[in-house]
Amino acid sequence: MPVFRGDPCGITCLILTYAAIFYADYVIVNWVVLQTMSTSLWGAVHAVFFNVIVFLTIMAHVRAVFSDPGIVPLPQSRLDFSDMHTGGEKNDDWTVCARCEMYRPPRAHHCRICQRCIRRMDHHCPWINNCVGEWNQKYFLQFLMFVGVMAIYAVSLIAYSWIKSCPECSKDMMVKQGRLLHSVILSMESILFGLFVLAIMWDQMQAILTDETAVEQVKRQGPYRARRPKMVLLREVCGRSQPLLWVFPCTSAPRNTEPSYNVTI
Ligand SMILES: [Zn+2]
Ligand SMILES: [Zn+2]
Repeated sequence: MPVFRGDPCGITCLILTYAAIFYADYVIVNWVVLQTMSTSLWGAVHAVFFNVIVFLTIMAHVRAVFSDPGIVPLPQSRLDFSDMHTGGEKNDDWTVCARCEMYRPPRAHHCRICQRCIRRMDHHCPWINNCVGEWNQKYFLQFLMFVGVMAIYAVSLIAYSWIKSCPECSKDMMVKQGRLLHSVILSMESILFGLFVLAIMWDQMQAILTDETAVEQVKRQGPYRARRPKMVLLREVCGRSQPLLWVFPCTSAPRNTEPSYNVTI
């Protein structure tokens, strides 16, 4: 089920994300490769590699934006909570969401922006205009990783283009100034976004490996279970496929088969 939210902050962040990605591609192709590497085969190789990274970044981003983060379905009819204080039949791990007026599975939390309960909700991220939850965390991580790779690649190519001798570089002052200006802007953009995604990626890995989502860290509810092996925790997010395939946004994220809603009261 594709989901898209009309949150103004989220939509602004989406526009900024695509403006930043396409600007980076424009500068690398037009001002770095075509201006300084047009006579060598490496120019073509870098242009192709950079565009492959751009494509993978967009693919991971689109999947993170449009996939269901793990929305807990609403009950068909209004529930009667009168047995709540008498102990009830429900498993202890299940909790009640007063806003959705329903029982929700363990680790699900209510997101005020999505206005729904999300399975293993980590946080609501305006950069994907969606929650980061059980079913899309893998795409979110892939997006962060590709943005990081893109930032490092862009800075390296810019640095190389200024260090190497460049007989084919234009002697025209206007062209030189344009190249300098775009090189500086893209370097700043790459360093800023690169450090930003690195910090979020670090937090995400910590959250996964300690089995405690950002929401649980704030509410001090984790770690959810007794210590589990790191590989088990990573598989829960990335799926059962070959770990080498985890980085590609073409395979599906894992879906817990545990029933999300089966209350009988
Ligand atoms: Zn809720
Ligand atoms: Zn949300």
